[in-house]
Amino acid sequence: MKILLASSEAVPFCKTGGLADVVGALTQLLSRHGHQVCLFLPKYKSIDLGAFSIKPLPGGYVIPIGDDLEKASLSWAEWKGATVYFVDSPKYFSRNGLYGEEGKDYEDNDERFLFFSRAVLEGAKFVDFRPDVVHCHDWQTALIPAYLKLLYHIDAFYARTGTLLTLHNLAYQGVFPKDVPFIAGFGWTHFTPDRLEYYGGMNFLKAGLVYADRLNTVSPTYAQEIQADGAFGRGLEGVLRQRSADLRGILNGIDLELWDPEKDKLLPKAFGSKTFAEGKAANKAAVRKECGLAESGRGPLFGVISRLDPQKGLDLVVELVPRLVESGAQLVVLGDGSPELREDFRRLASRFPLAVHLHSGFDEPFAHRLYAAVDLFLMPSRFEPCGLGQMIAMRYGALPVATRTGGLADTVREEATPAGLPPNGFVAPAASSAAVWSAIERALSLWARPPEWADRVRAAMGSDYSWDRSAATYEALCREIMALRGQKA
Ligand code: ADP
Repeated sequence: MKILLASSEAVPFCKTGGLADVVGALTQLLSRHGHQVCLFLPKYKSIDLGAFSIKPLPGGYVIPIGDDLEKASLSWAEWKGATVYFVDSPKYFSRNGLYGEEGKDYEDNDERFLFFSRAVLEGAKFVDFRPDVVHCHDWQTALIPAYLKLLYHIDAFYARTGTLLTLHNLAYQGVFPKDVPFIAGFGWTHFTPDRLEYYGGMNFLKAGLVYADRLNTVSPTYAQEIQADGAFGRGLEGVLRQRSADLRGILNGIDLELWDPEKDKLLPKAFGSKTFAEGKAANKAAVRKECGLAESGRGPLFGVISRLDPQKGLDLVVELVPRLVESGAQLVVLGDGSPELREDFRRLASRFPLAVHLHSGFDEPFAHRLYAAVDLFLMPSRFEPCGLGQMIAMRYGALPVATRTGGLADTVREEATPAGLPPNGFVAPAASSAAVWSAIERALSLWARPPEWADRVRAAMGSDYSWDRSAATYEALCREIMALRGQKA
């Protein structure tokens, strides 16, 4: 198949969150499975052109923005069998951030990403890559299916092209004012509540939900939650229910080479499931020292590695820290985001300097060391489209304490399944401090029974977090889309 992935970020080129990990992994997997794959990204200022041998293509093309024409050109690089094209527009992308700076979104994000979406479609024509499927990700590229159905339906180049839109997080939708359809080039006839209009403005993600041939979320449970409940669907639950037959849930995997405790060069001591006791002890001692914590805690070491965002339920952790400390446990938090949460954790760290530490900022090497050091990983999310943190933690022998929602519900178990999969963590049925504390108490009680604890850690380390099964599901979905467009895969 010829698959074009369009995304606003992808590892290893540019990243602000899990979206980048998923798009990078999928690009590699699909190309490794023998498909012709190209990935389109914006050419942000931060992308290291030299490191990836990114070269400009001669010439360029223009994109209509309202009554104006904006120039676009492409740079490209070969990346392990896939071709990556970078849409170049200094006006839109030569900036310090991807979506904003100092916690504030850029005011022209609507224009930037409708330009990008259209520049992808014109760019594919420019390089003569006629895709069977355009795979879009989140609101930033969700206009592509609308463009194909509303503006490019008379373009022979795209006559057989279908679209897949992956929803990584319904909390981000790209909602903009009423004049945006005009800037984007859509006719007012399409500005109706069943199509592009959304409470008097325009919602990019909704446009994708309406016009993509197939939709998927990044976990099966989240696919159900966003249709059933407005708290998850965020105002789009009605459209999602209408598209129910075309909406799937496909669980993300993690990069097993990047996240391999047996070969991880960033760890003071690498370890596998047979050597986890020694591995944990050495890595824990190193992190305790690095963070200035007491060298021999009475209880386990808890960790948080997360965006500091209300989604992640970390206010519940803040509330429970005094009880954790009283139990003899310690906590290290690695996080970036909300200044309020940062302040809360900073306050706790100065109140309990030997038991609580905050490492603020985004620090990938420290994340590796911390996953390897902690015994328990706290992730009491209010909603979680998939979540990668809990999977990485389990692979590094840290048992998650997680809420039963979205991808956490699909990956963390406290009971064996009917099919015989063993427990691999602790589950709070709700994002409340009572439910989370009760799960922590069960964790502390298992900690006091070392043989049972070791069994659970080995089960967690041995679970399957690979992309294999999900990659095959994505391929099947692409074939379904091709069949829909009258093509044989
Ligand atoms: P989300 O995409 O909602 O932020 P995920 O759990 O899906 O959450 O993915 C988060 C990823 O980012 C994980 O790989 C996690 O290790 C990493 N991460 C989160 N916060 C930090 C941080 N402060 N420093 C380093 N890595 C982080």
